[in-house]
Amino acid sequence: MSSPDRNKVDILDRSVAYLKGIGPAKANLLAEELNIHSLGDLLHAYPFRYVDRTKFHRIIDIIPNEGAVQIKGKLKALNVKGAGRAMRLVGRIRDDSGASLELVWFRGINVLQNMFVVGEEYIVYGPVQEFNSRLSITHPEMELARQAPTEVATFEPVYSSTEKLNRRGLDPRGRRKLIRALFLELKQADLPEIIPAYLMQELRLMARGPALRAIHLPGNQAELDGARRRLKFEELFLLQMRLLQLKVVREEQVAGYSFGSIGSIFNEFFQTKLPFELTGAQKRVLKEIRADLGRGIQMNRLLQGDVGSGKTMVGLMSMLMALDNGFQACMMAPTEILAYQHYESITEYVEGMDITVAFLSGSIKGKARKAILERLLAGEIDILLGTHALIEPWVEFKNLGLAIIDEQHRFGVKQRAKLWVKNKPYPPHVLLMTATPIPRTLAMTAYGDLDVSVIDELPPGRTPIQTVHFTEHRRQRVFGRIREEIAKGRQAYIVYPLIEENEKLDLLALEEAYDEMRDKFPPPEYQISIVHGKMKPSVKDAEMQRFKNKETHIMMATTVIEVGVNVPNATIMVIVHTERFGLSQLHQLRGRVGRGAEESYCILLSSVKLSKESKERIKTMVDTTDGFKIAEADLRLRGPGMIDGTQQSGLLQMRIADLANDGRILSVARDRAKDILETDPRLEKPEHQTLKIHLDRYMKGITGWGRIS
Ligand code: ADP
Ligand code: MG
Repeated sequence: MSSPDRNKVDILDRSVAYLKGIGPAKANLLAEELNIHSLGDLLHAYPFRYVDRTKFHRIIDIIPNEGAVQIKGKLKALNVKGAGRAMRLVGRIRDDSGASLELVWFRGINVLQNMFVVGEEYIVYGPVQEFNSRLSITHPEMELARQAPTEVATFEPVYSSTEKLNRRGLDPRGRRKLIRALFLELKQADLPEIIPAYLMQELRLMARGPALRAIHLPGNQAELDGARRRLKFEELFLLQMRLLQLKVVREEQVAGYSFGSIGSIFNEFFQTKLPFELTGAQKRVLKEIRADLGRGIQMNRLLQGDVGSGKTMVGLMSMLMALDNGFQACMMAPTEILAYQHYESITEYVEGMDITVAFLSGSIKGKARKAILERLLAGEIDILLGTHALIEPWVEFKNLGLAIIDEQHRFGVKQRAKLWVKNKPYPPHVLLMTATPIPRTLAMTAYGDLDVSVIDELPPGRTPIQTVHFTEHRRQRVFGRIREEIAKGRQAYIVYPLIEENEKLDLLALEEAYDEMRDKFPPPEYQISIVHGKMKPSVKDAEMQRFKNKETHIMMATTVIEVGVNVPNATIMVIVHTERFGLSQLHQLRGRVGRGAEESYCILLSSVKLSKESKERIKTMVDTTDGFKIAEADLRLRGPGMIDGTQQSGLLQMRIADLANDGRILSVARDRAKDILETDPRLEKPEHQTLKIHLDRYMKGITGWGRIS
């Protein structure tokens, strides 16, 4: 079947230097600046926008600060102005509307001055600003009107570029030349179809070769749309194929303990100890976990649930399933205080039952540690709660059946891998829990090889948190609100930003704020705790504990309180410099209040001047407390790479698909990939051969891929 090897090296693997007009110097530059090495890299570096060369703005109609415009007009003047750092080249261009506009360059003045000719007609492209009521474009793209390509010139691709590339002739125009040269070299056979024919037909996708050509050199809008849809589908489909393939392979290879029975421990707890009715979502998720644990395949499940949705109880009841089958279980949290909180609440839940619960962390040393380790190995401890310390090699279980990782985004992938070797012959089942809601499209991608359960319901009886936005000059009013809450016997959080680069300044600001607060809330009537990341963990924990014990009224903190701390009596949170926090962080922070039955408040303080994005973030926080809605907004505002809890995945750097907007295509791609792997898990059918070959090849090029598998 193998086709005669025309040339052993795939043409797409060749260096870009293979193209006419590109020597080693330019090839190096492309590699350094844009990570483009081969012809394939060049082919897959898609344009980020297109210019419709037939449409021009009239200068007289231009509204400044509304993005880039394209105009056509005569260069009326060109002069060097200013001196030293203020030296600049200033041109004036006038179009048929009779109005004119300034063009300004700060770099390359000599070269440009000789390049442009006064009196010639130019096509000018760039964002328009207004200075001293004059319109201007800084460093515009310029092209002689009579030189503009006349062939298929409707849509011209524009590629990302850099100053260096521009200077060496690889500006957008140079890149277009390169792409044309590339397509002269490529034959149809170089761009084979990889999506199975029946899918192509059913989804009416544009064929691969034409789509790749049209994404660079579209003839018209319809062709461009078709090419986009096709290439987005391809990208998402291949990714989902690979993720699901990994899952198939893992399930074939990684057997696990089968927890066949739900026995007396679980039932005793359920019937006599459970202090509340489970929510519908908790029940559903427990069923999913139970089914997973009974399959004889190692479980790898991600449990997503908003702050306060009751994940701990789900974790505990899953651990009881392990105990019922004669196994030990453990649960880890990222900080000592959180882990100890789990220890306390779980000890209380199972009180009176024949279950031994223990706590272990790095701070438990010497004899105490030795005793725990011995009892653990002897099987005398049923449930171990603790910090990351639990994954250290010196922690040995007798028979670990289930490991739970709380706030999993704080654990590295490598650390997770350490868990797998904790037991013989089978690795323990693993349940990852996260309070950072991740939009569905992201979860399918970043965690595409895991099973995902979602708790999408809060326990009843919570009064929603009221969120308001104040600008800083109304802080006196805010202090008043805090006093009212304290007078009612409640406590308050005040949260300050701390950015690593700014650490010193931020800490200074925190100290100043502390002095101010001591002024406004003087002792002995008021007591204030202060906690930040630079404190010793033991000091920090002690301060937190004081607040928990109601010895202090106000907790001033940087974002260290972000994760999981439970102080139901705290009913008001003030976030200072809200504009400096990200959305998901704000959501996590706010989750610290509203934990009891009392009405709770979150006050977002910000400066008066806010960027559009900050306004959007604050509005989202005021409008909703739904973590998933907030996550969707975050994805829209910041793009996928920045969403907490997914950075380590590396799978989110897509070439053309956009997880914020292509959810529908992604769903179809995932469903189709599932169908294929269900009927042909090893891709052995003839109609799947090109797909199989391409998958292996394609995945090599994806950064961070290896860390997942
Ligand atoms: P998270 O999902 O953020 O870890 P927790 O497990 O800490 O949430 O639960 C938050 C609070 O809700 C705890 O005080 C817990 O006892 C309570 N809780 C959990 N499930 C229920 C339920 N079904 N009904 C009432 N309260 C519940
Ligand atoms: Mg929790």
